[in-house]
Amino acid sequence: MSKLLIVGTVAFDAIKTPFGETDKILGGAGTYIALSASQFDIESGVVSVVGDDFPQDYLDLLTDRNVNLEGLEIVKGGKTFFWSGRYHNDMNTRDTLDTQLNVLADFEPNVPKNFQDSDIVMLGNLHPAVQLSVIDQVKNPKLIVLDTMNFWMDSELDLLKQVISKVDVITINDEEARQLSGEYSLVKAARKIRDMGPDYVVIKKGEHGALLFHKEEMFFAPALPLEEVFDPTGAGDTFAGGFVGYLTNTNDISFENMKNAVIYGSNLASFCVEKFGTEKMLNLDKHEVDKRLESFQALTQFEINLA
Ligand code: AMP
Repeated sequence: MSKLLIVGTVAFDAIKTPFGETDKILGGAGTYIALSASQFDIESGVVSVVGDDFPQDYLDLLTDRNVNLEGLEIVKGGKTFFWSGRYHNDMNTRDTLDTQLNVLADFEPNVPKNFQDSDIVMLGNLHPAVQLSVIDQVKNPKLIVLDTMNFWMDSELDLLKQVISKVDVITINDEEARQLSGEYSLVKAARKIRDMGPDYVVIKKGEHGALLFHKEEMFFAPALPLEEVFDPTGAGDTFAGGFVGYLTNTNDISFENMKNAVIYGSNLASFCVEKFGTEKMLNLDKHEVDKRLESFQALTQFEINLA
């Protein structure tokens, strides 16, 4: 069975949307990636850190889904990473209200022996120094995928650029791609980001889908238009989890297969936004996922006769 190593925050989130708000609930980039990737028959493990204020029940939700937590450090007396955000009425944009790094501030990751030979490494959103250390600890992965956000561009750009220079794929949202490249056009932005290192650039455009760039080629996956979006938190990470979960499961990292991976990622992200936090991802069944994949196919298939 192929192995996926996931690095990313395991966190408490407090979220406000036009439809309501939550107090501290289970969140974190690593959590969403792991839940999404757990839809595939693969061996996955998370490297992260929490404080001893983090409930065992939350950890059980991951281990129950066969996510290996040997690489999750629990700091005695420490406080778990906390993030709070508020979405605007369009649900596509949000303000970060609070980010408390807590135990993440001086986290030194330790990749368990059994995951040092992982096939694919997913560097989810967290401190670039942690991402770099993980890259140094793995032996010859077939693919390294990076996700990050404006917070780290603002605070740790030099380190982040070092990470970017070492990865094969970067997934990033449209505004962040513009910030990182200084280009408004996403096509130009993707080209500039490719020049920084990654062969593949995935630009996530929220409810407007995702673009995959490789050399001079481009592929587009729509987001499924949904009747109700309650909470977009974690959609980007769920997308990334679906993307790497599919690639790990199929053991094929070609551009052609990455197109399918983008579709799987978009499909899983479409579930994530339907409920607050991780609720929907914790209660997904395979039948539902497969059925929605058919809707994706129908959404974009057409026949045209070109003279
Ligand atoms: P997304 O909506 O996909 O961008 O991801 C939201 C998740 O990212 C939340 O569950 C947060 O806990 C986590 N998060 C927010 N800010 C950061 C940050 N600066 N570093 C790492 N994770 C973060």
